[in-house]
Amino acid sequence: MRRILIVEDESAIAELISINLRHAGFEVTIAGDAEQAQVVVDGVLPSLVVLDWMLPGQSGQALARFWRNQARTRELPIIMLTARAEEADKISGLDAGADDYLTKPFSANELLARIRAVLRRRAPDALDAAVDIGALTINPATRRVMSQGREVKIGATEFKLLHFLMTHPERVHSRTQLLDRVWGDHVFIEERTVDVHIKRLRESLGAVNCQHMIETVRGAGYRFANPQAVTV
Ligand code: CA
Repeated sequence: MRRILIVEDESAIAELISINLRHAGFEVTIAGDAEQAQVVVDGVLPSLVVLDWMLPGQSGQALARFWRNQARTRELPIIMLTARAEEADKISGLDAGADDYLTKPFSANELLARIRAVLRRRAPDALDAAVDIGALTINPATRRVMSQGREVKIGATEFKLLHFLMTHPERVHSRTQLLDRVWGDHVFIEERTVDVHIKRLRESLGAVNCQHMIETVRGAGYRFANPQAVTV
């Protein structure tokens, strides 16, 4: 899933960016300062952060530098925003560890293009290519699951779960791993929550006769498999 965190204290700008990113299929969280941003990042690591330089309290530059020095956030893609166009600022923004840099005012389309470029480079998994396995197709861009021309009605969590399983097929995932990868690390949910959502997912897939693609591996977890695939 593609989650973007916008760290910007000017709420009009944050909202405008957020509307455009949501429209483009991203999930968006807004933080008004470095402290709020840290809380968000401590919960679920976003796919990318759009980070304003000028924030009340700790600056965006200092926050970028801090994240680059933490093991968990070292690889976090960051695009910095600033009102200042001086070359020296641009260099210190990139020095602080930003992947790219945009000067205000900028167009929403330009930001979107930069986000996609950084994600392609840094987190290709976060891009929303459709995945086809057997009779099932999942498309994060349209948020649809299709099977032989029929749309599968599916809840938001089941969609994320199915997307993770279909992008990592044939492997056995423990409940803990699924909680980390689908619900987000640092989120404390009981493991049986996974079973509840697997059950709902199978019910949804049952409508197109694909429920058997979600296999229970006794004592280990769950696996997405394509029983129609012939092993030679
Ligand atoms: Ca600002």
